[in-house]
Amino acid sequence: EHLDEGLSKTKESFFGKLSRAIVGKSKVDDEVLDNLEEILVTSDVGVDTTLKIIGRIEERVARDKFVNTSELNAILNEEIVALLAENNTEDYTQFSIPKDKKPYVIMVVGVNGVGKTTTIGKLAYQLKQSGHKVILGAADTFRAAAVDQLKIWGERVDVPVVTQGMGADPASVAFDALQSAIGQDADVVIIDTAGRLHNKINLMNELSKIKRVMQKLIPDAPHEILLVLDASTGQNAFEQAKQFTLATEVNALALTKLDGTAKGGVVIGISDQFKIPVKYIGVGEGIEHLQVFNRKEFVGSLFS
Ligand code: GDP
Repeated sequence: EHLDEGLSKTKESFFGKLSRAIVGKSKVDDEVLDNLEEILVTSDVGVDTTLKIIGRIEERVARDKFVNTSELNAILNEEIVALLAENNTEDYTQFSIPKDKKPYVIMVVGVNGVGKTTTIGKLAYQLKQSGHKVILGAADTFRAAAVDQLKIWGERVDVPVVTQGMGADPASVAFDALQSAIGQDADVVIIDTAGRLHNKINLMNELSKIKRVMQKLIPDAPHEILLVLDASTGQNAFEQAKQFTLATEVNALALTKLDGTAKGGVVIGISDQFKIPVKYIGVGEGIEHLQVFNRKEFVGSLFS
């Protein structure tokens, strides 16, 4: 139900436009497809991904000769699910981590304000709920507030936060966090990092140093590099995805603030364009407002 509520703005905006675009039309023709293209682009799906979706629908129209506009919803639903399947091979149904990696190390990246700390807190909560021992590492040592915020989440969720305070070396904090996770036999370590995009070289160096130092303890760490993006920023989120994927090997996405926006289409476009699975979505400020991404559920609630 959080998902349906969270996506309501995107849904209203999308279907409002779609119903206007097909009014008085019984058949999906070129004009309907042109309108649909415009709607997808203005829903922040992104131009390339929009063209892929339109291409898929054109193929169906060509094959089936006559496609009723009343079937358009169902067809779009199917084609978007199929498109998402290309990069989201797993349909998550619960918060879990691979059993063969202990501790499982998640390094969280993203610019300030996107909801990075909140996502870490919510994720820690969910993983703890599902029986995992969690440790957080406050390696965003650039901002005092970031360390404090993470500590507050740690208290709230009742998980330890490893910190060395503001100005400390982020790699050293990450190392400490991993060491204490190993010592305490923790299942998962979540490392917060600073998101300063204005200096790309620094960002790249800082992230690679954190990785290098962590690998002294756990050679294949980090197992997950989770990029947090604010869905409500639309095209900015695409730009950030571009910068961060250039700076480091992002292999999972969290899209936040879907509840406040009609730009939910970014979830579809970003996953497609960067070939990275969406793992989590944020649908509110509360501790329970983080969900694992399930493509059928996600698209289903857009089209229900
Ligand atoms: P950070 O600077 O990236 O660590 O961002 P924060 O975690 O401090 O979050 C910035 C603001 O976004 C806070 O007010 C959060 O409550 C809010 N926020 C984070 N995720 C969501 C979400 O999914 N939905 C909504 N509505 N707000 C969110």
